[in-house]
Amino acid sequence: MKTNAKRFAKAYAVTPGQRFRLAGCDTAGLKAFPSKEDARVQTVKDAEAIDALQDRLYAEGRRALLVVLQGIDCSGKDGTVRAVFNHCGPIGVRITAFKAPSADERAQDFLWRVHKACPPRGFIGIFNRSHYEDVLVVKVKGLADKDDIERRYAQINAFEALLAETGTKVLKFMLNISKAEQAERLRERIATPEKRWKFNPADLEDRKLWPDFMKAYDTAITRCSTPHAPWHVIPADHNWVRNAIVARIVRETLEEMNPQYPQPTDWTPSRIKVV
Ligand code: ADP
Repeated sequence: MKTNAKRFAKAYAVTPGQRFRLAGCDTAGLKAFPSKEDARVQTVKDAEAIDALQDRLYAEGRRALLVVLQGIDCSGKDGTVRAVFNHCGPIGVRITAFKAPSADERAQDFLWRVHKACPPRGFIGIFNRSHYEDVLVVKVKGLADKDDIERRYAQINAFEALLAETGTKVLKFMLNISKAEQAERLRERIATPEKRWKFNPADLEDRKLWPDFMKAYDTAITRCSTPHAPWHVIPADHNWVRNAIVARIVRETLEEMNPQYPQPTDWTPSRIKVV
């Protein structure tokens, strides 16, 4: 059964050309999914549908899907990947986590490492953090020249247009949690032995810069939500809501792409006998 064409994608997409602000955005999203159980059931169904669509995308081998995940520390990027893509066979999925650039990467333009990590035709690529770090953390912490950063928005739009025009559908998600929810998750990381590895005391320094990060997100989302690569801002205070919305948008997008299994052109299946 197909989903209602792009209903979720439209509901959470940021309109291109419109000034966007995170302040005032709902971070709970309970209107869409009041029931945790229903959300979980839907997410599993959508994840299975994504697997089937990914198989067709891989077999077709003509186009790719790039899913960009951004969000402040603890916003649930890893958890989203797990919930939405865990049903996918690993053959056709590539995930890249972007950390602070190495010396080699810093010696190139900021999109060099990103372009290399883009999914080949037939693949779903997932970016856990992305080139947007170069207008987010880099801007907030003054890690590059101001004028250089200013030019990056247009460079990103041109880069994403190139991807779109050459067969890669780009879907961008900002996982939007409240500052209170981040505090809760940081405390939980510290208190839980199995989660402590995820905690980095430097996260507390970033937390102090919360308003600057929000401002940098506002600018990046406003300037880089385009018809060819829209931003979606996802309420992410509840894992089940976040997963259900992202899974549905990915599914809707793949259904719209409608990849097809290739059929033979130079032989007729009914005429072949395997003895
Ligand atoms: P994560 O928080 O994504 O699970 P880490 O704790 O290793 O993983 O954090 C990765 C760090 O790398 C983040 O603090 C992020 O801001 C930083 N980073 C990613 N890309 C860049 C970049 N282009 N320039 C500077 N820092 C970056």
